[in-house]
Amino acid sequence: MSVSFYLRSGETAFPSCPSCGGNMAFNPAPDRECADASCLGYGPEMIKSTPELNVANANARVIIRDLLGYTEAEVYEGELDAEDVKLRLSMAGYRAAGAVRPAAQQGNVYSCGLDLERIQSYIETLGTLAELASRRGEPIVYN
Ligand SMILES: [Zn+2]
Repeated sequence: MSVSFYLRSGETAFPSCPSCGGNMAFNPAPDRECADASCLGYGPEMIKSTPELNVANANARVIIRDLLGYTEAEVYEGELDAEDVKLRLSMAGYRAAGAVRPAAQQGNVYSCGLDLERIQSYIETLGTLAELASRRGEPIVYN
């Protein structure tokens, strides 16, 4: 069983330029120059897929409860306010050492654990989703 975090509008995204970091969605009026002639500081053309975060149910719980601190929210299905997620991520310093779970076995139930690297990648994807959702005025959906 797994949970996906995504945007309902989700068909387009704006990648960042690997050369200058320019991004049309996040910085529509860049004041920088870029060596890449196709970029001009705006970043490459949009691509047809927003990031989506797919995690195991247990990790969805860690994201909702431990990382974002929603103690009352449903763990496997719901909507998150984009501005609120941005705020919560920034208050956590975009880090979540407290959410690290060592691999463990209890009876026949084996838990894979969560390492810092994986949590950090969740945080980055959530941050991108929250930024896009905020700009589009929509929530992050998860189910
Ligand atoms: Zn560039």
